[in-house]
Amino acid sequence: PSLSKLLIVFTVSGGGLVAYSEAEKSYDNSNAGELVEANKRKKKVVVLGTGWAGTSFLKNLKDPSYDVQVISPRNYFAFTPLLPSVTCGTVESRSVVEPIRNIIRKKHVDAYYWEAECIKIDPENKKVYCRSNLSINGNGKEEFAVDYDYLVIATGARVNTFNIPGVEENTFFLKEVEDAQKIRRTVIDCFEKASLPTLSDEERKRLLHFVIVGGGPTGVEFAAQLHDFVNEDIVRLYPKVKDSVKITLLEATDHILNMFDKRITAFAEEKFHRDGIDVKTGSMVVKVGEKEISTKDVKRGEITSMPYGMAVWSTGIGTRPVIMEFMKHIGQGNRRVLATDEWLRVEGQDNIYALGDCATINQRKVMEDIAAIFHKADKDNSGTLTVKEFQEVLNDICERYPQVELYLKNKKMSNLVDLLKESKGDGVKESVEVDIEEFKSALSQVDTDMKNLPATAQVASQQGVYLAKCFNRMEECEKNPEGPLRFRGEGRHRFHPFRYRHLGQFAPLGGEQTAAQLPGDWVSIGHSSQWLWYSVYASKQVSWRTRALVVSDWVRRFIFGRDSSQI
Ligand code: FAD
Repeated sequence: PSLSKLLIVFTVSGGGLVAYSEAEKSYDNSNAGELVEANKRKKKVVVLGTGWAGTSFLKNLKDPSYDVQVISPRNYFAFTPLLPSVTCGTVESRSVVEPIRNIIRKKHVDAYYWEAECIKIDPENKKVYCRSNLSINGNGKEEFAVDYDYLVIATGARVNTFNIPGVEENTFFLKEVEDAQKIRRTVIDCFEKASLPTLSDEERKRLLHFVIVGGGPTGVEFAAQLHDFVNEDIVRLYPKVKDSVKITLLEATDHILNMFDKRITAFAEEKFHRDGIDVKTGSMVVKVGEKEISTKDVKRGEITSMPYGMAVWSTGIGTRPVIMEFMKHIGQGNRRVLATDEWLRVEGQDNIYALGDCATINQRKVMEDIAAIFHKADKDNSGTLTVKEFQEVLNDICERYPQVELYLKNKKMSNLVDLLKESKGDGVKESVEVDIEEFKSALSQVDTDMKNLPATAQVASQQGVYLAKCFNRMEECEKNPEGPLRFRGEGRHRFHPFRYRHLGQFAPLGGEQTAAQLPGDWVSIGHSSQWLWYSVYASKQVSWRTRALVVSDWVRRFIFGRDSSQI
């Protein structure tokens, strides 16, 4: 007989032993005792979250000397860039998700998944407290605690409503697969309701007024998808109501797609104008009622209201409550997101790592690092560098912090001397020496985007890969501390700091046209970029299964159009 299931005992937050979970791997009875012993010796890695960061960490973790426990309320990975396509049925929801157990099953590392959310992190006792989503025997939701040696926090972010009244109750978010499914059902609902014979014209127009709040990539892509859906499918299916459809995109700043090159912004605004999508920039939502949405004109301060049938909220992200609690506990309560060092370790917590949307690399560290590079180049300790020396320093900074380079490119500046000139007027000439304090104040004045990495899947997944590589080499490095060490500033560290490599970004604009901003300031807009988008997104799928499903959905849509049934 074999010991087919290994019982793992958890202590529970209320004390005593309550929750038992069964690991799913089979072991031979003859060496079961040894295995249990070996497992006890294994370092316990607890991963919170099955999103981009958590999954990419898990996929790349290869060292079998860890005992990995993945905790997330979602038992699948979701390919978020395709969520806007799910809202209108261009792609089916099941095609963009991969069960986390499929990923775990293929690993040669002991890895287990628990469907639960972390409700508290206790760094002193190295424990996380969790609550299962599931109620067993109707006794309420199970709670349990899990010990860790290393904790990887990858819980992502939540939608930010900025506490604007009515947003939570009356708008739809586009963050999770369930959100996209809900939006899809509600869009169809609006068309079915609007087709009822008893409706007044006014009510029909209200129902078919779709408002999207937020002109970032997600809001813009949803608006484009909805417009395509209306033009390609709805016109055939609901011919009587098609003329009552209106799409409005509200953006508080002066332009949509602010983080993109200006050429892309201009093209998108012009295309939406041609398509009849009403882009209202400088328009800030102040209240969302059941049937009316109120906006404030940012420049004039006027408040106006418009009737709407469905509103989608896509304005930004905020910190999850469990992370906020943890931040308060470790003295980061005054911060917006969890601060880590460049090795993704939570500041002051040696065994806790944070990556993805829930964390950011601490700016103070970045500034200190930049100052250290500066002082190293300042051989005569004068506190100033010549422009030539300064250029060398810049190369080093841009190599270490690609976001600095990216920022300069976006601002159409060739280097930081331009930046100094911008912040100091004509005071800085290329021939004069550059002062460190001047330089630091110029850096601190610029937009925080320059220093903070964007909250994107690209960053999250690169961080996951990076951290997994560190974990794969951790034991070897501990055994051979004299190995290839990297010297940095006053200290030394076993691993390279995390470096983000920006691979470009897309903004699908509908009508089989996409804007692409690729490294090297290369901008391409149109149908060819759409094909590039198809190939990149097909290749980035997490498994061959989802790749096949997504590609077949695209083909199905080309041949048969989108499905408008309400299931
Ligand atoms: P997520 O991917 O959000 O994962 C968080 C995980 O943590 C989830 O599994 C969640 O269930 C789990 N979790 C939550 N709370 C807890 C808890 N208390 N305990 C345990 N687990 C918890 N980025 C791009 O680069 N390109 C794009 O085209 C793009 N398009 C996007 C489109 C949409 C509609 C959206 C919403 C986002 C898009 N993004 C895109 C951004 C990208 O999805 C995020 O930056 C990325 O998901 C962040 O990864 P993450 O792992 O930090 O968080």
